[in-house]
This record gives sequence, structure tokens and C-alpha cells, in this order.
Amino acid sequence: MNTYKLIGPFKQVLPMTGLPLNGALKDEQLNFLEGKVGILLQGETIAKTGDFDTLLNEAKIIGAEVVELDGDFVALPGFIDSHTHICSSGSRARDYAFRNSGKTYLEMAELGGGIWYTVTQTRNASQKELEAGIAERSSRHLYEGVTTIETKSGYGLTVDEELKMLRAIQAVNKKHAVDLVATCLAAHMHPKDFKGSKTEYLELISSKLFPILKQENLANRIDIFVESGAFSPQEAKPYLEKAKAMGFSITIHADQFSTGGSQLAVEVGAVSADHLEASTDKEVEILAKSNTIATALPGATLGLGCAYTPARKLLNAGACLAIASDWNPGSAPMGDLLMQAAVLGAVEKLSNAEVLAGITVRAAAALELTDRGTLAEGALADLAIFPCNNYQEILYQQGKLKPAMVYKRGQKV
Ligand SMILES: [Zn+2]
Repeated sequence: MNTYKLIGPFKQVLPMTGLPLNGALKDEQLNFLEGKVGILLQGETIAKTGDFDTLLNEAKIIGAEVVELDGDFVALPGFIDSHTHICSSGSRARDYAFRNSGKTYLEMAELGGGIWYTVTQTRNASQKELEAGIAERSSRHLYEGVTTIETKSGYGLTVDEELKMLRAIQAVNKKHAVDLVATCLAAHMHPKDFKGSKTEYLELISSKLFPILKQENLANRIDIFVESGAFSPQEAKPYLEKAKAMGFSITIHADQFSTGGSQLAVEVGAVSADHLEASTDKEVEILAKSNTIATALPGATLGLGCAYTPARKLLNAGACLAIASDWNPGSAPMGDLLMQAAVLGAVEKLSNAEVLAGITVRAAAALELTDRGTLAEGALADLAIFPCNNYQEILYQQGKLKPAMVYKRGQKV
């Protein structure tokens, strides 16, 4: 369908265009349109933005549908959550209570909690049940303005169980309005029921699972948890090099509790290094000098009650900073991207431009997507429309102000 649709008038439209991908941003760099602004859509994409009355005349000539808004509205590109684990089963509310009562990670594991609990629950779920969970969380995200969601496997930890997760993600992507970007995180941890070393496990995954990912077009991205207790940089490197040689893009769970992951990410040319709560000035420098995008996950900080990613330092050093939710049942159960991004901005002293770029155009770059994250001509018509008269209200209300309307690929959801 290539029909035209004019939406407006908006008080402000923030196209998030013309911003550098790297480094600090000032709000003065946001070249937004103001007053009485219209957005003309053509099918799934943005045709143009500009003065509403001018576009209204044009709309009459070309026979466009007109969606006239009554009230104060600000339009932004739909948000992009570049790191989630929304394909999972089971609640870890008991873990959360234990952790906040002072129990250690080891004590929780002994009580049957931790990541292995989610693995067990996810293995026990059917593909259909996983699909229902993904669809429910995707809908919630979509209504909160998140129009593209990266989703990882990683709670299956066998070839067949990882395939079940990735097939569930693919099935939901086909039928749900939201766009899902799948990532294979079979290297989330060394499964405790695997009879063999970590290297043997990674060898099994890369030789048996990777080819099927290609055959079934299940995922183009490979992720690994580089951490003491998960996989060391030495164990991870050959696995990632093999993935790269097969044409996969790389992303790494890096520097969450200890360093090493971000340096490896840069070495192997990863698209992004995510977490970085433990990154020191040395890692900040390494990332800033690279093309690897730094992704902050404030939801995990809030869930675990630990340090925030040094976002200010990363931006000042010249890194590209994306902000994602890490939505998962263990460490980040909230799954409210806007709220978390707003809190990170307040703690780390980030400008509105830096926070908003982190969940739009810079998050798109973290997923290597060039067709979204801005309202440029030709970009996907993914819109988050907020009921306010100034964009500053959005982060000021710290995520409590939700979109009044969301458009995904030109369709209102
Ligand atoms: Zn994660």
C-alpha cells in the first residue's frame, strides 16, 4: 500500500536527523520543527515533514488521508530497544526478594534460583507458550513507543532449545506489528548439564547451531556473556571469530561485573559492547577509539542495585552511546525503556539529545539498521507521539508520560 497519510498538527517534531553518531550532544543540536507541523507518510515510510497547512494543501491535491490531531502533541521516531531477553518463561520474583534481603548469588543458586531457574522454565515451555510471552511483552513495549525490539535467545542452552527460542522469536516477528531483531545468545552461560568443557560447548554451538541459523534465517547476530563465571575473553574469541567468518554480526555482554569483554569486543569488531558497568577509564578510552557502540542497560542497574554504566565519560571520550532495557526476568524485570533512559540521564547528567539519540538513531546503529531511528525522508514511519507541547516534558516526567499514539510502519497501533 502506497497511500498517503498526513498526520498533524504537532507542536514539535523531533526528526533526530543531522546528529553525529559519536560523542557528546547538546540540546541545541536538535534541529526540531516547531509551531504547526505535519508529517506526511507514504505507505510504510516518511514522505516529508514540514508546515502543516502547506502539507494539508498538498494532501488535498494528492488525495491523502488526513489524521487531524486536536491538542498538544510532540512526535519523535519510534524508540528502539537494542538489548532485551523478552523470550523467556517464569518469574524470578523470589530471587529479587532474596537479593534485596541480602542473600548472595551463590545462596540463591543453591535455593534453585538464578539464571538456571529461567533456563529450566524456558525449556519446560512450548514454542507456542514462548510466542505468547514475547507477543505480550512486545505489545506492552509497542504501546510505550518502542517500535523495534532486539530479542535474544540464551535460556535454552542446547541446540534444540535455542532453536525453539529463535523460532518463537521469528514466528512472533512475522505476525506482530512490532519489528523484532533476533540475536543468538547460546553462549549465555556454560550449561551445568553439558558434559564437557566451555570450549567444547562453544564448539558444539558454532558447528551445529550456527549453520541452522543461516539456513532458517533465524538470526544474523551472535552474542556471548564474557564474565568470570560465564566465558573468558580467551574462550570467547575463537567462537566469535568463527561467527564473524560465517557472516554474523557480533555483540557482547561486556564488563558487567569485571573487565575484559569490551576490549575483546573492539578486537573482534563487535557492533556493540553492552552493560559496561565495571568499565574503567581504560575501557572507556578503548571503546571511544573504536567503532563498537557502547550500550548502557540502566534497567539492570536498577534491578541489581549496582553501578550505572559510565555514560557521561563514554560520551565525553567520543563513544557512541545506545541505551537499552535488558528486559529479562532476572536482573531487569521492569522493561520500561523510557523510564530507565530518563533515570540514566538524571544520574549521569546526559542532555535530552543524548538520551533520546540513545534510544533512537544511536540504538538503530547498534542494530545496524539505517531505515529507522530518525524521521528522515524515506525512513520507516515509526512514530511515538506524546501528549505535550515541548519535547523536554518527556524526560522531565521520567518515563511516566507515555505516548498518546504510536504508529508502526505507517499504521496506528
Ligand atoms: Zn542482557
